[in-house]
Amino acid sequence: MAGKGKEHLLRSLPGVDEVLQWEEIKGLLASYPRPLVVGAIRQAVGKLRAQILAETCAGDQELTRPALARRVEEVLVAETTPNLRPVINATGVVLHTNLGRAVLAEAAREHLSAIARGYCNLEVDLETGERGSRYSHVEELLTRLTGAEGALVVNNNAAAVLLALNTLAKGREVLVSRGQLVEIGGAFRIPEVMEWSGCRLVEVGATNKTRLEDYRQAAGPETALLLKVHTSNYRILGFTAEVGKTELVELGRELGLPVMEDLGSGVFMDLTPYGLYGEPTVQESVDAGVDVITFSGDKLLGGPQAGIIVGKNRYLEAMKKNPLTRALRIDKFTLGALEATLRLYLNPEDVLAKIPVLQMLSVSPDVLAERARSLAGQIEAAVGSFLQVDVAQDQSEVGGGALPLAQLPTWVVTLESPFISAAALAARLRQGEPSVFARIAAQRVLLDVRTLQEGEEKEICTALAKICKSASGS
Ligand SMILES: *Cc1c(COP(=O)(O)O)cnc(C)c1O
Repeated sequence: MAGKGKEHLLRSLPGVDEVLQWEEIKGLLASYPRPLVVGAIRQAVGKLRAQILAETCAGDQELTRPALARRVEEVLVAETTPNLRPVINATGVVLHTNLGRAVLAEAAREHLSAIARGYCNLEVDLETGERGSRYSHVEELLTRLTGAEGALVVNNNAAAVLLALNTLAKGREVLVSRGQLVEIGGAFRIPEVMEWSGCRLVEVGATNKTRLEDYRQAAGPETALLLKVHTSNYRILGFTAEVGKTELVELGRELGLPVMEDLGSGVFMDLTPYGLYGEPTVQESVDAGVDVITFSGDKLLGGPQAGIIVGKNRYLEAMKKNPLTRALRIDKFTLGALEATLRLYLNPEDVLAKIPVLQMLSVSPDVLAERARSLAGQIEAAVGSFLQVDVAQDQSEVGGGALPLAQLPTWVVTLESPFISAAALAARLRQGEPSVFARIAAQRVLLDVRTLQEGEEKEICTALAKICKSASGS
């Protein structure tokens, strides 16, 4: 059909003005702005022309009005769907950095939306009408929850560490244990942050062992700060020694130097009852007398992205005066979501149920088993002939560079198909709408129910049904 067919097809291609008159397109004009529809017609016709020229067009049936209108609609849907959009996390990784870390609590989502709808008292004191500080909204809550004297919030924990180091030790030396020169994903390395903040890093001790004497010997007239970094995302095991925060604080007092701790995650409650060991609470550090403590808002705390700094007022006041604070400041949305999240911690009885991160980490394996069986049943009913569906025990991870060794017993739904490989099925799930992220193990796709939110089971079934339909139709 090459030569002649090609010319015939090219001649049958309609013009934009003609397509705009079609009934099918008038329907689209009711839902989409005219300039977008015109652009979509151009794109759809242009693509069809390119396919005809490349001889990849199936023939006349592609040029019918319904077929072309469908192409136009596909372009419009793709163009009007936001790039950043909700996805379903069936990986079981609770703090998945690439999928946005913490899921916000309902109270935080509602407060965020109320703040977004209109104006708010971001920097005004309602009592006096005078100018206020944006930080005041969370300062009292943070000091109440942690026992610290003062608090400040910046854009993220990386910014908190940068600001604290720059304020307390610019142009001078900071002592850090060799075993704590952490790299967090996204090129956050303690030695580099140290450099940007204008401090000089002095490494103390060996990778596996650091003793109090090592800090004492390294301290000199140029020393400004003793820094302890929580090794959030790795553990040094075996023949090891670390200096505890109480001892380090004692040494700091003796030498007249402040002690800072970068906690990374920062939790307000002991998570050991849920099988999560080794994550120190913020209160422990405050009680030990650490002068400046930094942690994230969107890791185990379960709030929005933020860098929280708590500690002694004399250091916090100096940080508030540092011009860097202005560059790293948080906006009203972060503040609103953070305040609402922090308020939930005032009621310890409820906090596990109300903060999704803590809820997902503490949910019992029995509940997960029940949810996995229910999801398996729904998938079986939707696409049982296409997929072999089962449930199995497995392990989920905390993620977000927190609790690297924690293995949380979980239940997964396993999917296997004679028609499609596990890798291809996982890719189709990811590329679908809504997009579903799963794990792959032993040639099967695993859906971990731990990280599924309310109503997402049904969406997964719809997504699988679509994949099944297009796979069996082609
Ligand atoms: C995660 C982490 C950071 C970085 O925090 P962000 O909020 O991601 O900027 C810094 N230090 C430690 C120890 C961490 O675990």
